[in-house]
Amino acid sequence: MAQAGNVELIDAFEQFFRNYYDAEIKELARRYPAEQRSLHVDFDDLYRYDPDLADDFLAQPEQLREYAEEALRLYDLPIDVSLGRAHVRVRNLPATESPEIREIRSRHMNSLVEVHGIVRKATDVRPKIEEAAFECQLCGTLSRVPQSTGDFQEPHECQGCERQGPFRVNFDQSEFVDSQKLRIQESPEGLRGGETPQSLDVNIEDDITGEVTPGDHVSATGVLRLEQQGNQQDPSPVFDFYMEGMSVEVDEEQFEDMDITDEDKREIVRLSDSEDIYERMVDSIAPSIYGYEQEKLAMMLQLFSGVTKHLPDGSRIRGDLHMLLIGDPGTGKSQMLSYIQNIAPRSVYTSGKGSSSAGLTAAAVRDDFGDGDQWSLEAGALVLADRGIAAVDELDKMRPEDRSAMHEALEQQKISVSKAGINATLKSRCSLLGAANPKYGRFDQYEPIGEQIELEPALISRFDLIFTVTDQPDVEKDRNLAEHILRTNYAGELTTRREELNSLDVSVEEIEEMTGSVDPAIDADLLRKYVAYAKQNCHPRMTVEAREAIRDFYVDLRSKGVDEDAPVPVTARQLEALVRLAEASARIRLSDTVEPEDAERIIEITRACLQDIGVDPETGEFDADIVEAGTSKSQRDRIKNIKMLIADVEEEYDDGAPIDVVLERAGEIGMDESKAEHEIDKLKQKGEVYEPKTDHLRTT
Ligand code: ADP
Ligand code: MG
Repeated sequence: MAQAGNVELIDAFEQFFRNYYDAEIKELARRYPAEQRSLHVDFDDLYRYDPDLADDFLAQPEQLREYAEEALRLYDLPIDVSLGRAHVRVRNLPATESPEIREIRSRHMNSLVEVHGIVRKATDVRPKIEEAAFECQLCGTLSRVPQSTGDFQEPHECQGCERQGPFRVNFDQSEFVDSQKLRIQESPEGLRGGETPQSLDVNIEDDITGEVTPGDHVSATGVLRLEQQGNQQDPSPVFDFYMEGMSVEVDEEQFEDMDITDEDKREIVRLSDSEDIYERMVDSIAPSIYGYEQEKLAMMLQLFSGVTKHLPDGSRIRGDLHMLLIGDPGTGKSQMLSYIQNIAPRSVYTSGKGSSSAGLTAAAVRDDFGDGDQWSLEAGALVLADRGIAAVDELDKMRPEDRSAMHEALEQQKISVSKAGINATLKSRCSLLGAANPKYGRFDQYEPIGEQIELEPALISRFDLIFTVTDQPDVEKDRNLAEHILRTNYAGELTTRREELNSLDVSVEEIEEMTGSVDPAIDADLLRKYVAYAKQNCHPRMTVEAREAIRDFYVDLRSKGVDEDAPVPVTARQLEALVRLAEASARIRLSDTVEPEDAERIIEITRACLQDIGVDPETGEFDADIVEAGTSKSQRDRIKNIKMLIADVEEEYDDGAPIDVVLERAGEIGMDESKAEHEIDKLKQKGEVYEPKTDHLRTT
């Protein structure tokens, strides 16, 4: 295979292998071919051995790889085994050869590069023909045609009878290799200010297929090739890059791009000691949005999150907090959500409708990504946000497929896909920050939230905190808000004018004074590092006092519902939420212990939230049933009553109970007419009542 002039290079690789990889090659020989078929070479080793050889490898990777594989085949082995089809896979390139996916340019063509990103999509693993054996139907001779790139090649003529076929592919005599295509997308933490992530497709073969799952953060090393855009009839002069992958490895999942210097550390610790750290944190989220101190504090707690616990029985309790903002349109929800991207070390911002075919969770899809009718598995927003935060606007608009997968995603923090032969479990260890609009335009605080938003109760109950935002006129608040928005706009105007026109009719001092009021208290860059640092280094434990405070609060809430017929107040789920919140509160101070002050802070915020959503508006009592089941106790009573009423009236008439009579009786026992109508509709929906003829009712 090797030509005479290349003997030198093959020798060089043999020498290199002897010096650096002797043990690995012997191990490979022992395990070849069933358990292992590749020798993984660290580029650093090659460079240390011979910088020129290493540089050649970068410039002509395909050629040099063949020499390296030839050297492997010729290697002296103590056991009698031929490494006939073993691969040499180089990995770990220097930073100069690791461009961001968006930085890939024509000059990278045909060279060896390494890219980092997250696997967004992967086809299933399929056999691909490498060398096809064509059997002539006339004389039976086999003609072998290597299938290197692109289309399926047939022989020009039979090697036996020299006629043009017809041929039949003999599968037994052909050579196949496992193949898979991956789409690698830039990691969310590499993107700033909501840039759209770019992606690169990577083809891989043989033993490295089937090893990574969508959602994995990977380093892929390979050769960049070009593929023409357009189709055969209408080819385009523009080409797309793709990679022939040599090595794909799963990366450590922590925030890899975050370099926190010693100086940063000092600054972070200094900040954490300041008296007003919580206020400053609140003032660092979406400063252009006025008010919402509680919501902003909750968003901060969510960024820091609680500690994930692993129990002896193998199960785990999530530390991630989920939070939901429900409210009237035009109240700044979307603005606050999108601000998260500036300060979260890793985040994904999307709308409930989802921008990809995978939507919010994950999906098995059949599209033009693979060859022909191949299925691929694609990761959605909650998987891409693994170990980070997923900000999902208009959560109520999510697709039906996502709704069912969402329960598992939020509680177990994984997503199972089982369709078309694809069985996979994807990780989604993220916090969800959702926003939703009320079903009927505006929020009505006298109706249970379960009825007002397009989310099922079981899903709503998975949120640790739910805030409702209503837009009610309030002179004092409106004046402040107006002042704030006008100021923000003026500050923005000044900054723009200074940048664009260099006009000097405003002084730098004036600009600074105006913009100062809408600057974040802590610089976004530093805050991002702060969060990453706290999550890595700080795992707070409860003090006895904090534990008691939380326990007492919980028991007190529960006790409100112990007398027989009262609504059940909170469930154990809220207790876990309290623990998570308290831990997050301690982390903001970089404290290793959860103190009573943390307990107080989160009890206050939880109480406010519960009051907003958990209180049964008709009795004024806490009622977690509203959240958990979508129907409050008094409502259940009302439904029961109205059904009994219908049954009574029904007795008196031959063709069912006339609606107007039912409503009249309802009025007599003090039930509002519109409420009664509403409940009758519900009974009809549930099939407990039907209409034998117009405006008459019968119970079932
Ligand atoms: P939503 O998503 O709740 O419908 P948006 O986030 O789109 O609302 O906000 C609409 C506009 O109103 C934005 O330009 C936002 O800046 C402004 N706005 C709403 N509430 C506030 C507030 N409290 N402070 C400052 N601006 C606000
Ligand atoms: Mg919005």
